[in-house]
Amino acid sequence: MNLFDKFTTFIADKEPLLAIKPEIFGTPIEKMYSPTEASIGGRRILLAGTNNYLGLTFAPECLAAAHQAIDEEGTGTTGSRMANGNYTGHRELEREFAEFYGCKHAVVFSTGYQANLGTISGLAGAADVLLIDAHCHASIYDGCRLSGAEIIRFRHNDTTDLEKRLRRLGDRTGSTLVIVEGIYSMLGDQAPLSAMVEVKKSYGAYMLIDEAHSLGVLGKTGQGLVEAAGVTNNVDFITGTFSKSLGSIGGYCVSNHRELDIMRYLSRPYIFTASPSPSNIASARAALRLLKDGEHLRKRLWENANRLYSCMQEQGYRLGPQVGPVISAQLETTEQALALWTALIERGIYVNLIFPPAAPHDKPLVRCSLSAAHTPEQIEYLCSTFTDLASLARPLSQ
Ligand code: PMP
Repeated sequence: MNLFDKFTTFIADKEPLLAIKPEIFGTPIEKMYSPTEASIGGRRILLAGTNNYLGLTFAPECLAAAHQAIDEEGTGTTGSRMANGNYTGHRELEREFAEFYGCKHAVVFSTGYQANLGTISGLAGAADVLLIDAHCHASIYDGCRLSGAEIIRFRHNDTTDLEKRLRRLGDRTGSTLVIVEGIYSMLGDQAPLSAMVEVKKSYGAYMLIDEAHSLGVLGKTGQGLVEAAGVTNNVDFITGTFSKSLGSIGGYCVSNHRELDIMRYLSRPYIFTASPSPSNIASARAALRLLKDGEHLRKRLWENANRLYSCMQEQGYRLGPQVGPVISAQLETTEQALALWTALIERGIYVNLIFPPAAPHDKPLVRCSLSAAHTPEQIEYLCSTFTDLASLARPLSQ
């Protein structure tokens, strides 16, 4: 056995996919024109596979705040929050997140990935249990692994299976953290949160929800599923990212448990990495203000999502069970998914192509994520193109 054997196998398996132009993975973007348009392969392309849900990446308020922070504080902090990277902006943003959720404590991390890694591995240890939804994101799985705790998966969005597994844990439920997501990143469906909160409460367990895809998207003020379900104060820890609705980079966790603050001294992904740059923090702060008052943006986003979802459903695409800004079409085979993705890019549309194991049910996905910044004309173009290409997504037996 050689160190590089696994690469040989990987390359043999993926070579045909890696040779396709423009590249499917890490598609080179030559120029950004707006939140919804870019130059790819020398052509103007409509972006329908970003996480820019509120379209704030070019908001004048966010640009101005980022420019000012660069001018006044420089390009980077060059240190971790525990050392020289704890600026006023980082602390103010924590205060603003705590206020936004009506929680006592908030911690800002360098990415959303690290928010999950740092919170989960900071909270749980070898004697604890992590009960996680089977569709949870890689950052949650990695946080669980780093913690050394026992990891048990329950069936996706299945409250009965969650209850069964809690019951089996007997007197260990008090050291159990249940982990779910607001909107799941692959199929765009939402956790049945109220029912799950009732179950975890009845067993004396704790709960963490990752609102990465639901911050700014759900709830009157955009808190996420916790607000839409009316359970903000009944979930123990809420994590999320700045890299989607806030159009920046960074992550957060909020809680009423004081232990979240103490975790700063224990959580390796918080301690051993540089803090977000001043401009990332400044634009995230400006975006959080726009997000709170962004009911008009949420309205536009949901109009867009409803329109594309119903159009694709009518055309026979196999979609996730719930409408939302993440709209995924499930295909039978790699070839079928590739044919649809390629036909879309030829018609000037970029979406995400996702293969198992990242895609659930062992089936590839062509995933759209929509934005409040998509115009009605852009949405109509998406609808007419998916209509034209519907035959490419038919089950092979038909
Ligand atoms: N959680 C979920 C559910 C995600 O989908 C992602 C990013 N795709 C993250 C966390 C990580 O966020 P970030 O990009 O800020 O690292």
